[in-house]
Amino acid sequence: MPLTRRDAILAGALAAASFGSLGAAAQKAQDFQEVAPGIHVRRGVDEDATRQNDDAIANIGFIVGGDAVAVIDPGGSLTDGERLRAAIRRTTRLPIKYVVMSHVHPDHIFGAPAFQTDQPQFVGHAQLPRTLALRAEFYRKRLEATLGKLRAGGVVAPTMLVQDHAEIDLGGRSLQLQAHALAHTDCDLSVLDTTTGTLLAADLLFVGRIPSLDGSLRGWLAELKALRALPAHRAVPGHGPTGVDWPSGARDLERYLGVLLRETREAIAGGKDIEAAVSTVAQSERSRWKLFDDYNGHNVTQAFKELEWEQ
Ligand SMILES: [Zn+2]
Repeated sequence: MPLTRRDAILAGALAAASFGSLGAAAQKAQDFQEVAPGIHVRRGVDEDATRQNDDAIANIGFIVGGDAVAVIDPGGSLTDGERLRAAIRRTTRLPIKYVVMSHVHPDHIFGAPAFQTDQPQFVGHAQLPRTLALRAEFYRKRLEATLGKLRAGGVVAPTMLVQDHAEIDLGGRSLQLQAHALAHTDCDLSVLDTTTGTLLAADLLFVGRIPSLDGSLRGWLAELKALRALPAHRAVPGHGPTGVDWPSGARDLERYLGVLLRETREAIAGGKDIEAAVSTVAQSERSRWKLFDDYNGHNVTQAFKELEWEQ
């Protein structure tokens, strides 16, 4: 039976509508990329927290095993965490048994309350509770001022602490957790998925976006050296692309931290004060990093304080 003109228009409208919704779904799905079998990562935007971006500025994601899911960083706000949870539910029905909180910075963990109903283990570095106690209130107030009380999210106390190493089993899939010495912060936790040789480095690895130093410059370089030796051929950075080759993906970060170390030492040896160091150190790196002007001065200040008294 031939289509009437009205049927044809209706069919066209339906096709357009379903195409439109498929288009929207595809766009949403693109938010998360499966960087390795069962490892889904959403790229954060290279910005600081704003009302528009919901503090979705860090790379966050989840790993699906044989009988459970682990979240590796629950997101930068309640909104960000809820979106991550929805993405997991679109992907699998398996229970969310672990929420790994890679370190204290709010862009990685303030989405944790979105997972409380799942009653997972909230996993953190043994030092995380102490650092949270010192900073959580400050972070919460600052994020609430940007996003509003309802959307900011907040802190969930870790229920499983990692002192040195720990292993999580997702059902035929083992995740090796490592608690690091002072590096990006004093509570960095990395995750190695042995099934695919993927290192989820969180903020121990920045790519493209200038790193922020909140722990120890020398410590960070030492931890990177140790991470190089891991049996991983791919890494997920805390900021930057969702996946890079490993260990070559650490090259730019190591170069920047190396320049920061060398030139800060030179500034100190040359009798410069912090202000003078801030305006000169690592300027050769300026064109190589996003947000350079927002963080380099802070990094030089941190490095200066750390290196000032070394022998
Ligand atoms: Zn961080």
